[in-house]
This record gives sequence, C-alpha cells and structure tokens, in this order.
Amino acid sequence: MLGLMQSQPLLISGLIEFAERHHGDAEIVSRRVEGDIHRYTYRDSARRARQVANALDSLNLAFGDRVATLAWNGYRHFELYFGVSGSGRVLHTINPRLHLDQIAWITKHAEDQVLCFDLSFLPLVQAVHSRCSSIKHYIAMCDEAAMPKDSGVPNLISYESWIAARPATYAWPNFDENTASSMCYTSGTTGNPKAALYSHRSTTLHAYAAALPDVMCISARDAILPVVPMFHVNAWGIPYSASLTGAKLVFPGPAMDGKSIYELLEAEKVTYAAGVPTVWQMLLTHVKANGLKFSHLKRTVIGGSACPPAMIRAFNDDYGVEVLHAWGMTEMSPLGTLCTLKNKHDTLSDDEKMKIRLKQGRAIYGVDMKIVGETGKELPWDGKTYGDLLVRGPWIVREYFKNEGGDPLVYDKAGAGWFPTGDVGTIDEDGYLQITDRSKDVIKSGGEWISSIDIENIAVAHPAVAMAACIGVAHPKWDERPIVAVVKRPGMDVSAAELIQFYEGKSAKWQIPDDVVFVDAIPLGATGKILKNRLREMLKDYVLPIG
Ligand code: ADP
Repeated sequence: MLGLMQSQPLLISGLIEFAERHHGDAEIVSRRVEGDIHRYTYRDSARRARQVANALDSLNLAFGDRVATLAWNGYRHFELYFGVSGSGRVLHTINPRLHLDQIAWITKHAEDQVLCFDLSFLPLVQAVHSRCSSIKHYIAMCDEAAMPKDSGVPNLISYESWIAARPATYAWPNFDENTASSMCYTSGTTGNPKAALYSHRSTTLHAYAAALPDVMCISARDAILPVVPMFHVNAWGIPYSASLTGAKLVFPGPAMDGKSIYELLEAEKVTYAAGVPTVWQMLLTHVKANGLKFSHLKRTVIGGSACPPAMIRAFNDDYGVEVLHAWGMTEMSPLGTLCTLKNKHDTLSDDEKMKIRLKQGRAIYGVDMKIVGETGKELPWDGKTYGDLLVRGPWIVREYFKNEGGDPLVYDKAGAGWFPTGDVGTIDEDGYLQITDRSKDVIKSGGEWISSIDIENIAVAHPAVAMAACIGVAHPKWDERPIVAVVKRPGMDVSAAELIQFYEGKSAKWQIPDDVVFVDAIPLGATGKILKNRLREMLKDYVLPIG
C-alpha cells in the first residue's frame, strides 16, 4: 500500500520560489568584481533568475545542455545557480585556478554550450576560447558599459543586456527530481579530471541536511559569508541551504585576502563563515597583526583539508569563535561529517571537549560510512583501528559523468555499493571520524602507518612556521620515513634541530619526522590544497640523512 501524501519533485527552482515567497526581503550582499558593494534581496534574485531562464531559452538551449561559469562568489553567479538548473539545464562551475589545458579539456568533455564569466577572467577566456570548441555563446557578467572593447572573444555579450530584455515571469518546468542539475570536476591530481554530476534531488536533500543544527546550523537569524568558492562543489551547498532557511548571504567576490574578508564580516554583521584552512590562516594573521576582534562572528565551518588544532584553538580561545570541523569531498556534494558535540559531552572539561572537536566529526543523516581493511572486512569503531573509508548515500556519486573511469563503487556481500573515498581514518565508539591521511599520502614506516596530517599539525603549531607539508621518503630499513617541508613565517627563524625538538612529547618517538627541509613555498592545487605529488617531485633529489 502506498502512502497518500502529495508527491512533488524536489527541484532547485522550488528553493528560490520558496525564498521569494517566504523571506523575499532577506538580503544578499556582494562585493563585486567592479570593487563596490552590491545589495539586493532574494525577491530581486528570484526575479532575475527567471530572466536568466528566459534568456537561456532565447539561445535555444535544450533541456540538459551545459552552461559553464568562471565566476567568483556573487549575486550574478547565484542567479545562474537557479536560472540554469531551474530551467532544466546543467550548471557547470569551472575552477578558474585549473591549468588552461585542463579548462579547455573539461569544457569539451562537458560539452558546454555557454560560458558566463566574471571580467577578472577575461584574460583566461581570451587565452582558451579557441580550444573550447563546444562553446557557442560567451557572456561577460557585467553591464553594457563595462564591456571590454575588441576582446577577441566570439559572440561576447553582456549579462545585464542579455537578461534585461527578458520577461521576469517564467513557469519553472516540472520534471523528474533525479534530473542532473549541476556538475563539478574534481581537481584530478593524477590523470584527467572526472565530474560529479549532481541531481535536483541530491542537491535538495543535501541542502536540507546541511542546514541541520548538528551540521552547518544555518537559520534565518544568520548572516553567512561563504569564502568557499561557488566554483568548487557549489560552495558546500550554502547558496541552496541559505535559500531554504532565509539566511542573509554575504558574497566576498574576488577579494579573499584577510583584510577584505574581515571588513565584510564586520560591516555586514556576519555571524557565520565557511572556508578552507588556508583562507582562515590569512584572516587570523590579519586580525592578530592589527589587534582586531570579531564583533558578530559566532562560528565558522572549516574543511576541505585537515584543520590544524592551532587554528581551532586560536578561533576558540582568542576570539570566541566556534570552529566546526567538516569533512567531505566533491563526490559527496560535499558534506560527509561535521564535528559537533553530543549531550553527554556537556560535563567534559574544555580540554576533553577540544580533543573531540579536533576530529572530522560524525556522519550526517544521509551519509553512511565504514572503515575497511585490505580484505574489505569492516573494522571496529574503537578510535584506534584505521582503515580505508567507504561511504554511501543519496548525495554521493554512483558513477562519474560519461562513466569516466568505470564503476567506482565497491560492493559488500549484500550487494550494496560503497564509494571509496581514498581517505584513511579511524571511527570511535561515538561515531566520530578522524582522518589519518589520504591513502596515497600515508607514510608506511616499518609496517606501521604514520599520519602526515598529524606531523603537519604539530609543525604549524610552532610560531615560526607558516606552512608545513609532510611526505614519506625511501629508507633502507624502514621502507619510508617522514620528512617535513616547512615555509617559515616572514621575519622569524627556527632551525631543523629546534623543530624536531618541538615534536618531543607531542608525538610518539618513531613518528617524529627524520628531517626538516626549508622551502620558499609549498605547491598548492586549484582548491588551495597541498599538492604532495608536486612536492615529492620538487624534493626528488633529496637524500635522507641516515645516521
Ligand atoms: P579535490 O581536492 O580533488 O578537489 P575534494 O575537494 O573533493 O577533492 O577533496 C576531498 C578530499 O579532501 C577528501 O577526500 C580528504 O582527503 C580531504 N579533506 C576534506 N576535508 C578534510 C578534513 N576536514 N580533514 C582532512 N582531510 C579533508
């Protein structure tokens, strides 16, 4: 017997319609590429999203056609999120920090028909357009007056003129909620990038889940600043969750430096921000150097790579800002776990609470996870045994776009498919996940595993260390031993011996790195993560001092 409830597909257009009707006057504030601050409401945004949908129809785009963006976090990008997906097309957000070859490759692979870009990316578009054979229309996200002259980009039109001529009424189509809504290519540290193809259903379910109190806790009382880019996994779903709850949105545009972010946090009374550790490092450095405080910021979600304990402590102890450590990946829309405490932890001391908050957190309902050993057998949740982390759930990929790479899942005895995350971790009795490493980065020394994350976390807690990255190097007796590459803070000094000394008492003796290599910079990928492959390449002539 079937239930007798109404069945409405979960569509992205429903989110912006709801926002318009139920909190139409909530604000969306953006720092524009032009440099000024733009301010309007969800109501305005919904109207313009409908104009975008009409404008796409005018280009004769078919249902399911891909519309690409090269854009910062801002209101026009937000309108495209809804106008493109809502009208049944697929929004392909391109990471502008990818290599030109990769950008050319993914536009072709995605068969993008349209590319909308912020003017900051004009040089990039000029350099690459001749290799993007599928793209028929280029749209500069600016008004007519700001249009570049003689750009050389074919069929270039201004976003504002493109939509201004279109009606603000549009009947959002109804279709299967499993229809594709947006896509995002993983950075692909090896081989060609592969795309996660999200659906309206997966995006909406993820948006509900992300807003929960034990997840990102997004409400109508918040003013949210996503520093995490809208070109990387839909800014962790924040544009959708904000629309669903009525939170004020504050978009930083291209200005990601500590000073600009701080000014926006203060001026717009931001209660809540989200981003990767490297961005927060810049913010903390600015705030500390200028003796500033946060007047409104209450919490920040930090994820994308391991958040160093020193950062969590600095936010918490020095500024009274709660850090929510999050773990996820492009293939997971991206949220998997978030670290919040349980009721039973109330009576713990601050130190004991901090120990838990340093972990990556508990699975969100909608994500099932397990750790397995080499034979695929599930390992115990004891907080000590580490294994390969597998996940499954309605916002986790089943396969990549165009079935690139074949079936990625591994199957259990009952036939259920699990996505192998490529991460290694432990899960404790209370279900808190702690990531040890990416499986390819874990250091295998004398049959034991050493976490490069642990080694990096200790190094960055030293006052003279700006950034640290640990890799394994070959050792005749132990197979591999860890060394740590370190960038010093400007004007500060520390010797290799002093830094090794700093590990004493903070980690087991055999886990202490054998050497410290000082470098000018550590190579970072398109999403601000350390590129270990590149670092290994950089240090290929390095010889371990064996004493
Ligand atoms: P890519 O870097 O290829 O774009 P993602 O952005 O999807 O991929 O990154 C996902 C990976 O980032 C995870 O598999 C994990 O290794 C790492 N990661 C994400 N959040 C955390 C975290 N809080 N702690 C440790 N590692 C993390």
